[in-house]
Amino acid sequence: MKKEIYFDHAATTTMWPRVQRVMEPYMQEKYMNASAHYDGAKQAKAAIEEAREKIAQMMDASPEEIYFTSGGSEADNWVIKSIAGEYKNKGIEIVTDTIEHHAVLNSCSFLEELGYSVSYVNPDEKGIVHPNAVAEAMGPKMNLVSIMYGNNEIGTIEPIEDICRLVHARGGLFHTDAVQAVGQIPVSLKKLSVDALSASAHKFHGPKGVGFLFVRKSVEIPSFIHGGSQEKGKRAGTENVAGIVGMAEALSISVNQMEKSMEYVSRLRDYMIGRILYECPDCRLNGSYNRLPGNVNISFADVEASTLLILLEESGICASAGSACNTGKSRLSHVIEAIRVPERYAPGTVRFTLGVENTRQEVDYTIRVLKESLYLLREL
Ligand SMILES: *Cc1c(COP(=O)(O)O)cnc(C)c1O
Repeated sequence: MKKEIYFDHAATTTMWPRVQRVMEPYMQEKYMNASAHYDGAKQAKAAIEEAREKIAQMMDASPEEIYFTSGGSEADNWVIKSIAGEYKNKGIEIVTDTIEHHAVLNSCSFLEELGYSVSYVNPDEKGIVHPNAVAEAMGPKMNLVSIMYGNNEIGTIEPIEDICRLVHARGGLFHTDAVQAVGQIPVSLKKLSVDALSASAHKFHGPKGVGFLFVRKSVEIPSFIHGGSQEKGKRAGTENVAGIVGMAEALSISVNQMEKSMEYVSRLRDYMIGRILYECPDCRLNGSYNRLPGNVNISFADVEASTLLILLEESGICASAGSACNTGKSRLSHVIEAIRVPERYAPGTVRFTLGVENTRQEVDYTIRVLKESLYLLREL
């Protein structure tokens, strides 16, 4: 087998060796249940609280504002469903947009089935959700607005601070799914006034199956998983101690090297975008100028992404069409549909998401394979 070239960092990332090393003791000698009272258990409990403090510090938040979850999906489900339930009698309305991750979109459609009112704002053709469009969608009473920080498919970074200010001016609550932003670009909960934010460890070189929900002190969040008293009784269940410790380590590495990695990855991204647009006939870049450092989303005219991806894969290149959760289904990605990519281009949309371990040689090789594959497919 050829060495794999991994350009799918928006789907997941490799775990850093140091993260694995700090996790191992909590799967072996320090395995005790953090809720128990003997010494080993107290050590596990202390490790959880230390991780919470570390994460809070890196996010410019307080430890009591960080709740551990099983990942980004759970954090999104928790905040949307529980806030909706809490304010049901006040006639709460939910506002989101059409290019959210399915963890948000499907939580919202679940609420719609229960009778809630949900509005879906359309972004512009660059994938930008405009604050005035959000304002127009808001109802007269209580609103919960959920707009993502950075889009996982096309990389567009949303003007969430402006949206948040506007939502607060009208007495609403604001949540952002920051799963693609945390660990990739600077996120400060002092600078941002969001009420809630979701993050996931495996998107920043941490373990899978662990994430966190930030909830600002001023907001009372109802419990999501009922049971024991873990996470102040709001999210019951024996803690994933190793995962939590690993997440804190991964975030700390990401934050410490962020300036360097952002510079390196975005330069590699721009090099790749430049070469594709210049050397591959009939293609277009999706997303906005203000985009996530590693995101390259291109639509190639007159080809099917699924066949193009097979050819790339045969040459050892991992990329994706739309989001990972959409593969297997033949329909267009909801994001590509929402930003109105022309019919000739939309089915040929491929996403490359780059990370710090990628090199210029890998990009060069990929461009060569891409050019050959496009030539082949378009000749057929
Ligand atoms: C990956 C992702 C999620 C889901 O996170 P999990 O930890 O895999 O559940 C949610 N939102 C966005 C934007 C994502 O990219």
